[in-house]
Amino acid sequence: MINLSSLDIANKNLVIRVDMNVPLKDSKVLDATRIKACLPTIEHALSNNARILLISHLGRPSEGNFEEKFSLQPVAEYISNLFNEKCELINSLESKDIFNGKFNVQLLENIRFFEGEKSNSAKLGKILASLGDIYVFDAFGTAHREQASTHSAIEQANIACAGFLLERENRNLTKVLNNYENPYIAVIGGAKVSTKLELIKSINNEAQNIIVGGGIANTFIKAAGFKIGQSLYEESMLDIAKSILEKNKIVLPDKVITSETFEGKNIQKKSLDEIEDNEMILDLLLKEETYSILDSAKTILWNGPMGVFENKLFEQGTRDLSETIAKSSAFSIAGGGETLSAINKYINTDDVSYCSTGGGAFLEFMEGKTLPSISALNAKNTGR
Ligand code: AMP
Repeated sequence: MINLSSLDIANKNLVIRVDMNVPLKDSKVLDATRIKACLPTIEHALSNNARILLISHLGRPSEGNFEEKFSLQPVAEYISNLFNEKCELINSLESKDIFNGKFNVQLLENIRFFEGEKSNSAKLGKILASLGDIYVFDAFGTAHREQASTHSAIEQANIACAGFLLERENRNLTKVLNNYENPYIAVIGGAKVSTKLELIKSINNEAQNIIVGGGIANTFIKAAGFKIGQSLYEESMLDIAKSILEKNKIVLPDKVITSETFEGKNIQKKSLDEIEDNEMILDLLLKEETYSILDSAKTILWNGPMGVFENKLFEQGTRDLSETIAKSSAFSIAGGGETLSAINKYINTDDVSYCSTGGGAFLEFMEGKTLPSISALNAKNTGR
């Protein structure tokens, strides 16, 4: 893979695929984390007198139509304020304004408005690839999607390279995937086993233990033979969960927090064999064994909360886990939207060795899959 730092970009026109799919409210950027994650690449380009055209998606508009609520205009305004110079929003790929020299920073309107993005159209890929001198791919969060701006454009560009964010993600995630130091401990929480099954299966071969939480823990608790009342779980995953349990790596809680409603009616602290038919497990307490497993870890992978942490009544497990990981001297990586909001809520991003910007891309990378954008970048380098 060619990295941006190895290229002479002085005075060149750079098309940079970024992930600025940020939450908006009243046409304002609500959380700029994803924009900020792109800054090292943008700043490097500008400090080398390159002109840049940013490409991003936002939300899920229906392709081929402009929809105001999915417009990147608020992002263009945010970037203009950040750099104190206008970031021009480009509405058409035929626009004469692209790289016309008037503005150093331009942003193409939501790439998902353009026909052919989702289907990885070679025609759209060719157009995107031909707009500038170099196609820089820095959108790790969308690297698992095989689309025109994330795949075809890379394939067809004269020169395509990885931006600084992609390089960082690749380096840090590869370290845990392939070069982890033992003891390697994974923490997998969140709602559903099915969305993380491949990750759980592959980690079950690698990690020493998997600490489970959330609805995922509930499925394993039921598979282990306990009654879980009205708790969220997945019936279709029970057999698979049983076979995963056979390896004796899954760490279940021994005390959970139950309630009769999500609002917190009749909250109780219970052992696994005490759960009544009308109760739901909404949080769990880490046991002493879990703390010592985490304390002795040299590598930690974390994805997904331990309970319904959005509600203060059910945040204890996720808070305790966050604080324990923050104190650990292990090389720790975390990924996924909910996981990052828990980190921002209870600790700091700096308390974790590396926080990935990917959700789906993070999961697929850690499953050991080669993401389409990364394989396209790799193929460029070897000339395949
Ligand atoms: P995920 O996106 O798969 O990481 O799931 C995150 C969501 O799982 C959060 O919104 C949590 O509220 C939810 N969650 C965590 N624990 C539970 C639980 N015990 N019961 C229901 N939902 C849960």
